[in-house]
Amino acid sequence: MGKLAASILSADFAHLADQVKLVEGHADLIHIDVMDAHFVPPLTIGPVVVESLRPVTGLPLHCHLMIEHPERLFDDFVAAGTDMVTCHVEALEDPTPVIRKAREAGMGAGLAVNPDTAVETVFPHLEVLANVIVMSVRPGWAGQAFMPEVLPKVEKVRGEIDRRGLPTEVEVDGGIDVETGARCVDAGATVLAVASSIFKAPDPAEAAAALATVIRGVRGGSAPTASAPPGTGRGGGG
Ligand code: ZN
Repeated sequence: MGKLAASILSADFAHLADQVKLVEGHADLIHIDVMDAHFVPPLTIGPVVVESLRPVTGLPLHCHLMIEHPERLFDDFVAAGTDMVTCHVEALEDPTPVIRKAREAGMGAGLAVNPDTAVETVFPHLEVLANVIVMSVRPGWAGQAFMPEVLPKVEKVRGEIDRRGLPTEVEVDGGIDVETGARCVDAGATVLAVASSIFKAPDPAEAAAALATVIRGVRGGSAPTASAPPGTGRGGGG
């Protein structure tokens, strides 16, 4: 069964705990976009916000690290209560020691690829990855239009994960709504990261419920993708 990751990038930060509570019943993960004004132009949030969120939700806290030298902050993210970190391959000279460090610190580790980056760059690491994020917008800003040209990358990495019988999640991040989310699920995504379509909606709880239905494959008239082999344990996530 797929998972909905509610991305707080589009939430009202003055009422963050309330915003998380609104969607908690429908989301499986809280997705936290960490940006450093170097790897991407914007500056967002870091471990101190994770620390504040930790006591207000039982959902796993997943930090998507759009930052340079992410490993320098791993100790802070662990101490704040982070369950999983996903780093960008473009930010890493060698992902191997960074993934190892995250796992040794007790977090699930993932790798993300930008729209222009070949998804094959993560293949050597799949065995140890909790997730792969395929970016469907250029990282940095919420509210961008979904890039359908990344869907073949979702199919490619899903195919490789299934071929090896791994539990690695395939997450798509950027421009996800009910329509684009369904296309991602059909391509093999098991996690949808959604910001604006939830938190900018008039009713974030209702929007999250609709997206949860899409990712869990029970949308009316649309059967779940037939490409998933039985018995692939897509639980865990870290
Ligand atoms: Zn993200």
